[in-house]
Amino acid sequence: MTTREAKINLMGLSLPKMQAFFLELGEKPFRASQTLKWIHQRGVTDIDAMTDISKPLREKMKSVAEIRLPQITQEFRSADGSCKWIVQVESDSSVEMVFIPEAGRGTLCISSQAGCSLDCSFCATGKQGFNSNLTVAEIIGQLWWANQKLAGFGVKPAQEWSEDGKPAQNPRPVSNVVMMGMGEPLLNFENVMDALSLMMEDQAYGLSKRRVTISTSGVVPAIDRLKDFTDASLAVSLHAPNDELRNELVPINKKYPIKELLRSVSGYMEGLSDRRVPVIEYTLIAGVNDHRQHARELAVLLKDFPCKINLIPFNPFSLSDYRRPSSSSVSNFRQILHEAGYTVTVRTTRADDIGAACGQLVGEVGDNTRRSQRYRDAAEAQKGNEQEFAVEQRSETAAEVTGKRFSRADNLAIEIDRPRRPSV
Ligand code: SAH
Ligand code: SF4
Repeated sequence: MTTREAKINLMGLSLPKMQAFFLELGEKPFRASQTLKWIHQRGVTDIDAMTDISKPLREKMKSVAEIRLPQITQEFRSADGSCKWIVQVESDSSVEMVFIPEAGRGTLCISSQAGCSLDCSFCATGKQGFNSNLTVAEIIGQLWWANQKLAGFGVKPAQEWSEDGKPAQNPRPVSNVVMMGMGEPLLNFENVMDALSLMMEDQAYGLSKRRVTISTSGVVPAIDRLKDFTDASLAVSLHAPNDELRNELVPINKKYPIKELLRSVSGYMEGLSDRRVPVIEYTLIAGVNDHRQHARELAVLLKDFPCKINLIPFNPFSLSDYRRPSSSSVSNFRQILHEAGYTVTVRTTRADDIGAACGQLVGEVGDNTRRSQRYRDAAEAQKGNEQEFAVEQRSETAAEVTGKRFSRADNLAIEIDRPRRPSV
C-alpha cells in the first residue's frame, strides 16, 4: 500500500513533470494542463473537486498522489496593505513571505531556503545558518497561498493588462514575484527552476519573465547555467564596489570575485531575447560601504555594465552591530550614482506597523544567547582562518532550528525595465 509520505505531491510538479506523471498513469499529457489549472488557477487542493476529470481517473490519481501545501502559521497585515506570512515547511522550520502592493502591481517576496549557508555579514537569515532547501511545492505554495489569502481579503488583481497591451490571463493579486526572502535561490537550483517555470507557465500563474526576479549573492556556476533553464529577471546582491570590502560583507565573493560575477551576469543577460538589464542591489550600511568614495568607485566599476541600482538602507536586527545610514548619506550616495548616469531606486520602508512584529520575530532568535555567542565565536575563529571559502550548506540540528523564526526587511523597490546610460 502507498503510504501518505510516499504519495507524489502534485503541488510541486512543473508542466513537464505533470505530463510525465500522467504518462506514467497511462493517460494523455493534456491531463497535465487540466490539473495545473485546477491547482494553480482555481486554487483546488482536493483531487475530487476536479470535475472535468473522470471519477475513475481521479481515483487512480488519488491512489498515488495528493496535493500538499506548506502551512501558514502567522499572518500580519499592515495598514498600508502590505502583508507578511510565516510559513511552516516540512523540515519543521519556518520561512517568511511578504506582499507589498504598489500602484499597478502587487509584489510577493518569497523564500527559497530555510536559513542560508552563505553568511553575509549584514543578514539575519545568514546568522541562522542553513536548515533546508524548500521543495518546489513549498516555494510555489507561497504564491498559491498569497493569491488565496489576498483574494480572501478582497485585494483586487493588480495587473489587468499585460505588457503587450492585451488583457492579462487570469489576473490575480500577486503580479510580481521576487526571490528575496530567506535563502540563496541558486543554491536550491532545481527546485527553484521548477517553481519559476510554474510561475511563468500560462496553465499555472502565467507571470511574465519581467515580473519574476531571482535575487542572488553571486553563485557564479549557477548563473552560468541559468539561461538553459529560465529567462527570469535577475537581481545581483553586490553591496560593495571592490573585492576587499565585498569579501567581508558577502563571503561567497572570496570564491567568485566581482569581475567573474559581472562577467557571468552579462552572459546571462546577453542570452535573453529582450533588452532587460539586471538590478544591482546595494545594502547601505553606515560607516561600512556608504561613503561617497564607495559610490564613486561603484559608478566606475559598473560603467560598462548596463544595469539599474537599488539602494537598500540596512535593516538593523539584534545580532548585528551594523547601523542604518542617515537619510542624507543615502541621498548623497544616490545623487553620485544618479549624476553618473545610473537609474537608481532607494527602497522605501513599508509596513512599519507589521515591521514591529517583524522585529519581535527576530527578537526570538536574538534572545537565543547561546546561538549568538556561538556565532561570535565562529566569526572570531574565522578571522584567523585563511582557508578558501567553500560553498557548503552547513546544517544545524533540527532542535537548534525548530520553531525559530527569522525576519528581514522587505527589499522590494525593484523595477527592471529602463536601461541607463552611464556617463563616467
Ligand atoms: N540570497 C539572495 C536573496 C535573499 S537576500 C541574495 O542575497 O540576493 C535578498 C536581499 O536582502 C539581498 O540583496 C540582501 O542584501 C538583502 N538584505 C539582507 N539582510 C538585510 C538587512 N539586514 N538589511 C537590508 N537588506 C538586507
Ligand atoms: Fe543568504 Fe542572501 Fe542572506 Fe547572503 S543576503 S546570507 S545570500 S539570504
